[in-house]
Amino acid sequence: MTSPEPGSARQPVRMCVRCSAITSAPVVVSEVHQNSGPGFNVYACPECAQHYPPVPDVLHLLTPGWRERSEEDEG
Ligand SMILES: [Zn+2]
Repeated sequence: MTSPEPGSARQPVRMCVRCSAITSAPVVVSEVHQNSGPGFNVYACPECAQHYPPVPDVLHLLTPGWRERSEEDEG
């Protein structure tokens, strides 16, 4: 389902992962690859992108323990 956005032309705007600002010139600062299915890119605004390394290690993003451990495994 597509929702009509204000404005005739759609710009490839992305939200900065660092300052959460919407930028019209997103810069890919990281690529997240999933085990199954296509991955996604992490974007940042040009100002924040310069604080990021060219391409950080993907393994760093896939560190175990990202799940919310709210429930204890009780056997
Ligand atoms: Zn930013």
